[in-house]
Amino acid sequence: MSAMPSGRLAGKTAIVTGGARGIGAAIARRFAAEGAQVVVADILPSPPDLPDGGLFVPCDVSNPEHVRALIDKTLEAFGRLDIAINNAGRTGGTGPFLDVRLEDWQRYLDTNLTGVFLVGQAAARAMVERHIAGRIINIGSINSFAAEPGAAAYVASKGGVRLLTKAMAVELAGYGILVNMIAPGSILTERNAALFQSEPLRSGFTRSIPLGHPGAGADIAGAAVFLASDENQFITGASLIVDGGLTALLRYE
Ligand code: NDP
Repeated sequence: MSAMPSGRLAGKTAIVTGGARGIGAAIARRFAAEGAQVVVADILPSPPDLPDGGLFVPCDVSNPEHVRALIDKTLEAFGRLDIAINNAGRTGGTGPFLDVRLEDWQRYLDTNLTGVFLVGQAAARAMVERHIAGRIINIGSINSFAAEPGAAAYVASKGGVRLLTKAMAVELAGYGILVNMIAPGSILTERNAALFQSEPLRSGFTRSIPLGHPGAGADIAGAAVFLASDENQFITGASLIVDGGLTALLRYE
């Protein structure tokens, strides 16, 4: 069942990093449908399909100059910043722990953790200067809570996002800024569709996810709308797991 937009983000300006495709694009579309002015920031050099009225800013979230330009262009275009969604991420594995190369480790940390720090800090500064009780949502992962073989750098970066979310929440609470993490489970995107729909993953999902199937970008977008909207007044520093029950289930085979 698809959600019915109801203007819950009307009048707000939102940045969505990594918003050109996958989960970020689903969040950008839903936010626009809820009335937000959306800025899509992505490492892609040319503009993707944007939601109506959206602005595209090419941005590598691990580059402080790009991030400064992202905030400046957002304020220039819309005069305010209410919501920042730190979604840009490098996904996948880095191979067996014994073989992980420093440069691969660094690449994951740069995008997945330093990127959240840079965009989160710059967005929070813009909110504080304008006395905006904004919302920052960091996209972690179920790997913020548990590891998988062959993904040490990804898992460490996403574990870091969980605690960085709490650090930001604690320090920004005094300004009325709420900071939370969404932890997606297995979410079908253009990039992983072929893999997720092939065996043995497909039957693995049926067995391991109590709801019986992977999620969609729209499932993450729905959670993000709630956390970003004025309906959320008292949740901060929290992690909302959106995984169809995957991490609620203990399986022994
Ligand atoms: P995608 O790879 O489909 O989309 C991520 C987007 O972010 C891409 O457009 C990518 O560009 C962009 N990006 C990558 N690096 C940077 C950077 N340094 N600066 C700006 N943009 C960048 O990923 P998903 O939609 O699957 O994932 C989105 C988020 O959700 C990630 O943080 C991921 O870790 C998290 N997540 C996803 C899950 C899933 O099952 N899909 C599960 C758990 C968490 P490019 O394609 O050029 O690299």
